[in-house]
Amino acid sequence: MRKKIIIANWKLNGNKKSIIKFLTLLNQFYFNKEEELNTLVVMAFPIMYIHLANSIINQKNIFMCAQNVDVNLYGSFTGEISVNMLQDIGVRYVIIGHSERRMYHKENNNIIAKKFKLVKDANLIPILCIGENEKEKKLGQTQLVCQKQLNDILNLLGSQAFENSIIAYEPIWSIGTGQVASLNYIQTVHNFIKNYINQHNNINWKNTFVQYGGSVDENNIYSLISQPDVDGVLIGGASLDYKRFSKIINIIKNY
Ligand code: PEP
Repeated sequence: MRKKIIIANWKLNGNKKSIIKFLTLLNQFYFNKEEELNTLVVMAFPIMYIHLANSIINQKNIFMCAQNVDVNLYGSFTGEISVNMLQDIGVRYVIIGHSERRMYHKENNNIIAKKFKLVKDANLIPILCIGENEKEKKLGQTQLVCQKQLNDILNLLGSQAFENSIIAYEPIWSIGTGQVASLNYIQTVHNFIKNYINQHNNINWKNTFVQYGGSVDENNIYSLISQPDVDGVLIGGASLDYKRFSKIINIIKNY
């Protein structure tokens, strides 16, 4: 059975108290042996809470994730955090190129590709976010946009680029809006992403995943995860509430 990955992106939310409460409940979550191996939970808390979070977690299928990383390894870069620092505090996954970083921090495909490479070189797992905005969707440019967002990484890393990586397809117009793309639309884009990567990469799909993100919740998760090319989900808002998040985990692990 193929692994299913659930990524929770807390963005700029939470504090010590709420994170301890959330993880204490998550620690009690029941994973039997097979599910434990096949359902991975990846938590992206704000960076300063990750060390604490890692010390609380006692389940071996729950991993820590950073929401970003700097493109430099060390030096005079005030306020930044390097991949080595992430490794040092037990981070396993790193979100790269979230649309909010592309939009508010002007991160382009070239910088994102450099970050992606740094993360892979450090033996961490990149979660590359790609996806079109509303205007691009209306113009029918979704696949072209995704293709461009993959190209710089393919050019920089070559035929193994996406081995052991996660791609999160997140239509920007769907993030935090409650508007989920239609199942047919999502399946078509996921299938396109996988075929496009296959054309350029010689990878083993066992360790590469294409996730969907954008207003995922406890009501739509079953139909999303039922799509053949949806390997898991990236969840923002609904991951902040333990009850909603645990319902999502339950649906996925029992799928
Ligand atoms: C996200 O943070 O990338 C996201 C998909 O958020 P939401 O689930 O709230 O739409």
